[in-house]
Amino acid sequence: MKVIVVGAGPSGLLLALILAKQGIDIEVVEKAVTLDKQPRATHYSAPAVYELVRAGVADEIYRGGYVPQGACWRKLDGTRLVGITATGVIPEDYPYKMVCYPLDKLCPLLLKHVLELPNVQVNWSHDVVKIGQDDTKAWVEVETPAGLRKLFADYVVGCDGARSNVRRGLFGEEFPGFTWDEQIVATNTYYDFDQFDWSDSNFIVHPEHYFMAARISPHRGKKALWRVTYGELAGLTREQLLARQPDKFRTFLPGHPEPDQYKIVNFGPYRIHQRCAERLRVGRILLAADAAHLCNPFGGLGLTGGIVDIGGLSDCLIGIHQGVASDSILDHYDRVRRDIYNNVVNPISSENFRRVLQDPEIALEKDEFFKICLKAEKDDEMSRNMQLSVKDMLQHDFTQYYDKKEAVDTTDSA
Ligand SMILES: Cc1cc2nc3c(=O)[nH]c(=O)nc-3n(C[C@H](O)[C@H](O)[C@H](O)COP(=O)(O)OP(=O)(O)OC[C@H]3O[C@@H](n4cnc5c(N)ncnc54)[C@H](O)[C@@H]3O)c2cc1C
Repeated sequence: MKVIVVGAGPSGLLLALILAKQGIDIEVVEKAVTLDKQPRATHYSAPAVYELVRAGVADEIYRGGYVPQGACWRKLDGTRLVGITATGVIPEDYPYKMVCYPLDKLCPLLLKHVLELPNVQVNWSHDVVKIGQDDTKAWVEVETPAGLRKLFADYVVGCDGARSNVRRGLFGEEFPGFTWDEQIVATNTYYDFDQFDWSDSNFIVHPEHYFMAARISPHRGKKALWRVTYGELAGLTREQLLARQPDKFRTFLPGHPEPDQYKIVNFGPYRIHQRCAERLRVGRILLAADAAHLCNPFGGLGLTGGIVDIGGLSDCLIGIHQGVASDSILDHYDRVRRDIYNNVVNPISSENFRRVLQDPEIALEKDEFFKICLKAEKDDEMSRNMQLSVKDMLQHDFTQYYDKKEAVDTTDSA
């Protein structure tokens, strides 16, 4: 079997890795000349880590990243409202602990593993402009520096992100859902939050100056790199956002620092969306991760949900490749992954974002999630169940649709 994977982002590279390890021929086509460096995903929770373990890359990720010990919500003046802690609650030997390992490390790691496999070809500067299929094959038309090419495979998977041309090829500009009025700015910033005794992840609740500050390097003190993501007015240009940034940081960061007290090394404005494609499967063409669905990044469900798509889709394609599943297993992929987006990822991520926009003075009385967290702070078992339940909420075992279950082990043993 041959699969064309469109996009060498985290989801495309992970899919290529898992499928190629099972002997499926893979051609990755990526429009850029190299991996993306924008400040985006950093944290992956248990359901994603489960797939990274299966892909055989989790040990390296844990070695290069770190395991965050907790998150809390604060008022603008830094007062802690409520929090969730992993320390002493999540068992030390739990194999799927949340890990922080930013995309600018994750993608090179996945690429390194992909390039070690003989049955994967990665084509840079290959911009997919058209897709097509018939009863026996699917194809992409690709603009390359050498001209237009047409590449064929048994299946094409669109892992080409929010502006997916694969999705457009299937549904035009239709991408049901909505775009939030607010825009956000994600920065990677060196600043000593430890002097204020902040948690590894902090969500600041405020209708105007809401932000999140999460440690994204294992270091502490002045050497620690933090992801500071804050809300901004929609419609401002990058230049206007850059001009307003020092005032924003002076207003909302603890210690009200001047620009010479921190160092921003990455700065990226984003519009944020809640959207899911009408279908994740049309014949031999499939969608996964951001190409299939989007959510705002508060709570880190975007790529986590995308990685879980990849795990499930891999099991479906491996089953077909090994002759133990029929092509109709892909209809289960389509139905289940959309259901999980609609019933779990979309509502939870939307609430995560609304939560930071609310009035902090009445949040503890009004916000149902905060009320649960307040109870869980005094009850380790409740806290543990709450934190570990995310895995089952996002995952689905597609091997249950295999016709001959006994034949397959898709776990990586490397
Ligand atoms: C500020 C911010 C913070 C975030 N933090 C988290 C987090 O902590 N945890 C989490 O789980 N998620 C997080 N996310 C979401 C996460 O970054 C995305 O879900 C993830 O990057 C999506 O991966 P992807 O592989 O689907 O798409 P992308 O990363 O967008 O990759 C798509 C690839 O496809 C290529 N491509 C596009 N069009 C074409 C074409 N026509 N032909 C060929 N190639 C093409 C692109 O060049 C790119 O390389 C965050 C997002 C933002 C904006």
